[in-house]
Amino acid sequence: MRRRSIKRLPKAHLHLHLEGSARPETIKEFAALEGMDVGDGVFSNLPEFIVVYAKTAQTIRRPENLKRVCRELVEDEAAQGVWWSEPMGVPQYYWERLKLPVDEVYAIMQEGFAEGTKATGTEVGMMAGINRNFGVDGLFGVNTVQVAEFAARNKGNGVVSFGIAGDERIPPDPFKPAFDVAHEAGLLVVPHAGETMGPGSVWSAIQTSRPNRLAHGVRAIEDLDLLKYLRDNQITCDVAPTSNLMLGVANDIELHQLPKLLDAGVPVTINTDDQTFFGMLLCDEYKLVRDTFGLSDYELAGMAKVSALASGAPEATKQRILQGIDDWLASEPDEDGVG
Ligand SMILES: [Zn+2]
Repeated sequence: MRRRSIKRLPKAHLHLHLEGSARPETIKEFAALEGMDVGDGVFSNLPEFIVVYAKTAQTIRRPENLKRVCRELVEDEAAQGVWWSEPMGVPQYYWERLKLPVDEVYAIMQEGFAEGTKATGTEVGMMAGINRNFGVDGLFGVNTVQVAEFAARNKGNGVVSFGIAGDERIPPDPFKPAFDVAHEAGLLVVPHAGETMGPGSVWSAIQTSRPNRLAHGVRAIEDLDLLKYLRDNQITCDVAPTSNLMLGVANDIELHQLPKLLDAGVPVTINTDDQTFFGMLLCDEYKLVRDTFGLSDYELAGMAKVSALASGAPEATKQRILQGIDDWLASEPDEDGVG
């Protein structure tokens, strides 16, 4: 059966981390330059993965290299048919490595994104975020409320959302004041939840942060009331299938939670999370779920539409993506598919 090209499908990419989306060869080059050892990169669960991730991020130690990672991210997104990208970045982490104030770090990131946008047309809005592993007091004297204030200050200047990542065993409750600052500023609030810790972590994220979207959220399928809540309130789950497989959230792609979320009417998007480590680009992820679950082009287009609608993109960009998706559906199937 012939199918439409997934690369040609216009989409927004909403759940990806800046350093976890860097090209592996770029990171190797940085590690050699800095004389650093990034280790064997082996992990089998989320806590181990966080350690591997930190080693990679530590190789970005010069302004020009941070800018390059940002520019290459946009170029790579464009190559996957991404029209709007929403990477999570934490400028505060670069204080120690670059010895620059947060606003200067952010300006470097913006330059990199802007160069990528100029070259490709793919637009970027950053999700400023915090890592709960570093606690409410954060890193380098920058607490989580200050990160949220940075995000709020830069709404309209490239920041569109506020996220929280890290080990879900650490409850989100102490971070509530930071979420309140983000809501007050009109940013989208997007906590990681429902990945390793089950429905309870989603309920506590809902109570604490009033999320617009959830990064992952897949384990919501274990609680029918929660599924109904996500559907009724149209809280989007930014699902990353290969990440879930590699971190043991789903034991097998055939057993992945995606179909149950879709069947329940929960808005779902497809994402990579950390392609540097998981080895799957965004079109690979779409193809994986298409071929595993026999999804039609209309169903793929539906998830791509959700990605545009649930994003922090300007209204005009959303409309452009939605039109592009309709044009894609109206086009002739042009590839030999397996679905
Ligand atoms: Zn993530």
